[in-house]
Parts: sequence; C-alpha cells; structure tokens
Amino acid sequence: MNAPHREPTFRESVDIMFNRATALMDLSPGLQNKIRVCNSTYTVRFGVRLRGSIQTFTGYRSVHSEHMEPVKGGIRFATSVNQDEVEALAALMTYKCALVEVPFGGSKGGLCIDPREWEEHEMELITRRFAFELCKRDLINPSQNVPAPDMGTGEREMAWIVDQYRRMNTTDINASACVTGKPLNAGGIQGRVEATGRGVQYSLQEFFRYPEDVKRAGLSGKLDGKTIVVQGLGNVGYHAAKFLSEEDGAKIVGVVERDGAIFDPKGIPIEMLRSHITETGGVKGFSHGTWVENGAEVLEQECDILIPAAMEGAININNVDRIKARFIVEAANGPVTSSADSALRERGVVIMPDLYVNAGGVTVSYFEWVKNLSHIRFGRMQRRQEEAQNALLVDEIERLMKASGATEGLSDKFKSDYVRGAGELELVRSGLDDTMRTAYQSMRDIWHGRPDVPDLRMAAYIVSIGRVAAGYKSKGL
Ligand code: GLU
Repeated sequence: MNAPHREPTFRESVDIMFNRATALMDLSPGLQNKIRVCNSTYTVRFGVRLRGSIQTFTGYRSVHSEHMEPVKGGIRFATSVNQDEVEALAALMTYKCALVEVPFGGSKGGLCIDPREWEEHEMELITRRFAFELCKRDLINPSQNVPAPDMGTGEREMAWIVDQYRRMNTTDINASACVTGKPLNAGGIQGRVEATGRGVQYSLQEFFRYPEDVKRAGLSGKLDGKTIVVQGLGNVGYHAAKFLSEEDGAKIVGVVERDGAIFDPKGIPIEMLRSHITETGGVKGFSHGTWVENGAEVLEQECDILIPAAMEGAININNVDRIKARFIVEAANGPVTSSADSALRERGVVIMPDLYVNAGGVTVSYFEWVKNLSHIRFGRMQRRQEEAQNALLVDEIERLMKASGATEGLSDKFKSDYVRGAGELELVRSGLDDTMRTAYQSMRDIWHGRPDVPDLRMAAYIVSIGRVAAGYKSKGL
C-alpha cells in the first residue's frame, strides 16, 4: 500500500469520500461543488464570569447544506472541538439525513470545553450563554436550525437550551421544537436517549437478514454468538453493546475506553461495566475479564464485528494494518479516516458507514421535532381505540373456538401482547426500525446492482448526494 505522507483532516477525509462517489455520478462540477462545500461557519468567543474572573470560551455552529430547512445536528462539548471538525460533522449530517429520508439539511455545533472541569451550575451558565449567542443569530430556531445532543452533551444541556430560547422568544408557540434530545418533561420523546444505539442494533439486524452480505464480511449465520469489540462506552457504544448482547445474543468480548480496555472471551456484562465506569471513572479494576492497559491492543484483536463508537479517526493510517476485524460498523461519526478506509477496502473488509449506522439519533430527533410541532404525544389519540378493536377480535375468536368445541382458548400471554395498543415508545421503535431497514435497502440496491460500486460507503454517498442534488435542482439552483 502507498501510504500518503499526511493523514487528511477530518473535513478532507469526508470530501475524499464524497469525491469517490461523485466521480461515478452524473452531476455537473458546479453542482458537485455546491453540495460539497460548507455554506457557513459561525465562530463565537464569549466571556462568562466564573470563579472570580472572566473565562473566555470558543464555540462554533456550522451549516453545511440548506437544501432543506431546518438544518439539524448536535452540539458537542469537548476540548478537541475545532472548525475543521465541526464542518466535517455538519457535512456528515447532510448526507445522513438524506440517506434516512429525514427532511433536514446538515449542521453541527461545538464548544471547546472539558465539561468535567466545571460544576453543574457553571455548565448551566456557559451553556445558556452559548445558546444565547446562537439564538440571536437564528442558529437555534425551530424552523431554521435545530441542535441536539452529541459528545459531552445530553438531556440536561438541551433543557437549558430550550429554556434559554423560550426566554428570548416568549410568544413562539413552537419554541419546544428549537432543539431535540430534551428530557421528557421539557418536550422530549421516549426512546431518544437510546436512539443512536438502537439504530446501530437495527442496522446490524438488517445486515444479518441478507446471507450474501454476511458472507462478504467473512461471516455466516445470525447475530447470535458473534463476537464484538466496542470502542467507547458512551451513550452510543453503551446502548449498542447492551442491546446487541442482551437482545440479540451477541458476545461483547472487548470494550476499549480512555483508561485501557476490558477483554473477556466469555462476554462482558455491559450493565455492570457501565456502573463500574460511572463509579470509578474508568474500566480499570473491573471484576470480569482482563484489564489491558494499552486499549489499542483490544481494538486490534480478532473479532467478528468491530464497532468504533467514540471519536473520529480511531482507525487511521497508523493502526489500520493491525486491525484484524473483517467487518466494521461505524457507530461514531468518521471513525475510519479516508486513508484507512482505502486500505481496508483493498483488504476486502466490509464497512457499514457512519452516515447509515448512527442515523438513529437524528431519526428519533425528527420524531421529537414533529411531536413538538403537533403538540401531542404519539399514540395519544388512537392507543385505547386500537386496544378496544383488538379486544373485540380476540373475544370473537374465543367465542368461535368455544362454539366449535375447542377445549382451550387463546393463551393469556398472546391475548395481552396482541391486544396492547402502541404507545409512544413502541411507535418510535417501529418508525426507527422501518427507517433503518429502508435506508439499508437503498444502499444495498446500489452496492449489489452496480459493479462499479464496491462498498457500502460509496453506495450510501451515492444515494444521499443524489437526493441532495435533486433537492437543489428542484429549487432551481
Ligand atoms: N449528534 C447526533 C448525530 O451526530 C444527533 C443529531 C440530531 O439528532 O440532530 O447524528
């Protein structure tokens, strides 16, 4: 392999992936360029009086594409945040939303901060001040730009943001739709916290429905019993690992974290490990498996499925030659750099790309936004009506069974499962499952249907860029 002298930046890496796809598409160079570039990036530096002095913070909100509005994407709190990263992530949001047919353009925000260094009341002041700066410029707005959680942020920050927006827009009846990922009591939706991890699970379930695809990844059979290494046990990695092990019978043999990794060929109890991390701040000292100080060794372990679920660039030119997994599922945004991507492709490694795998978060954000605009919880009108209808049918079947001399009726379990009407959580899961299946099929049709498209990432970009291009063309651009 001819390794490039320099690893491209994250933004360049996304562009390289974009260019690979557009090389096979019939789009004018002008339109290609219009789609590729980031429309705008706003940088703000603001001061907050904390601990007796003024502290200055730097934040960004980048808008990649406004072919659909509002634009959507999380806000990240981390010391590594910079303009290149925010722009790359905003671009990924555009392609992600298009792939899963969520009617948003792409955006992303970030604040350069280590949230662990500040007390809760200090974080509130900082977040509100950042939100104030973004609201002032309509970079937080229900019809123009709708942020969400990302690394280092969660329900708590979203609750502060929505409250800040409300204070500045007291008569906006749709104020709660200005941000998603809110706690339930502040207009959130059930299933949003787990949504990205759930989406990772649904993407794998869908992949394993196609034996030909499974074979391309050097595997066979079902998800049950497959060995998995997960990098990062944050919100996404934790939920994905939990659901895959507890519900699909997969075995999480390795978890890589900041302070090393845990390896256990018998399978790691994820819930216990998560509690251990919450209590001690790391994986070291966990009662199961072996602690490996150099986490990279576990990332490079033999396993059926490798799920990078932490930062971008986890698999790069420096470690790609040591990665042994034949199947990589990108739960993080940009975990494989473009140079690593081409090296892995050459080796026939199958990669399910980030813009598909982690789209569960923004999909459920979309449901939350719709809920906020409609001002009513999903299922509220029809749930009991559905139950009454189902009960009628069950009663009639039992009456007929009895009349025809059956000695047994329907089982109680069947009856209660069948009769139960769908509440918000069931509807969110069903909508997410449907979204993940449909999006996989749209990538797969191209992956299998076009001999010039050798991998799922390229297929995903072709689907997304095609949709964004159609959006621009119909707008008359
Ligand atoms: N931050 C998440 C992502 O990268 C969610 C974005 C959203 O819900 O708007 O996809």
